[in-house]
Amino acid sequence: MALRPYIVGNWKMNGLRATLAEARAIDRVAARYPAVDVGIAPPFTLVHAMAEEAQAMAVGGQDVHAKPSGAFTGNISAPMLEDAGARFTIVGHSERRSLHGESDGDVQAKAVAARAAGLGVILCVGETEAERDAGQAEAVVSGQLHGSLPKEGAEGLAVAYEPVWAIGTGRVPSVEDVAAMHRAIRADLVAIYGDAGKGVRILYGGSVNAGNASELLGVADVGGALVGGASLTAESFAAIINAAA
Ligand code: PEP
Repeated sequence: MALRPYIVGNWKMNGLRATLAEARAIDRVAARYPAVDVGIAPPFTLVHAMAEEAQAMAVGGQDVHAKPSGAFTGNISAPMLEDAGARFTIVGHSERRSLHGESDGDVQAKAVAARAAGLGVILCVGETEAERDAGQAEAVVSGQLHGSLPKEGAEGLAVAYEPVWAIGTGRVPSVEDVAAMHRAIRADLVAIYGDAGKGVRILYGGSVNAGNASELLGVADVGGALVGGASLTAESFAAIINAAA
């Protein structure tokens, strides 16, 4: 089954109002690549403004709360994100897991809430360097998948494999290691969802840039990329979109 490539930028806590100009430029790039799905997850403060203008790209959240509303100071719910114009959200990013103590169960509850609100979900998994060095990378990622994927079905779901040690470091795994992990993730997806698991896009994330995107996107079962630093300018992000086309 040929899946549409999916290239998503995670702007993290970068982005003031001026970044809207970059978003417009990325949207114009996305319009030139109708065969590639392009998304940007900006800080919440920019979601509405970007979604109002976006023609060819989807705008998403970087995280979402598991409850639809309530006394949760500082949080954003899935219905609120959807109301602001978001079409998807990232959940389980390693920075959320490590800096905010999110468990697999927390991530699963967020994924379920996001889909209930009609949002697509990009669910992140990935091992630490110590776990890889100990030969546990596939077991760790498999445990995260079984613990955090929503059980109800695969609709609207993408998985992002992001080795923690590759995020923001300029280091990337070998293509053999990426291929082995994506193969293992696909096997878990099929074990959990049956045939529907074959339709879930598996993105690679971790120091993807204009120079290495072609090689990484050429690996079997790499269905796209989740990009941090290199998504902040239209120029570098355009090169990654072009590599996926
Ligand atoms: C990320 O944080 O999701 C990420 C992949 O970051 P970078 O591309 O900067 O490594």
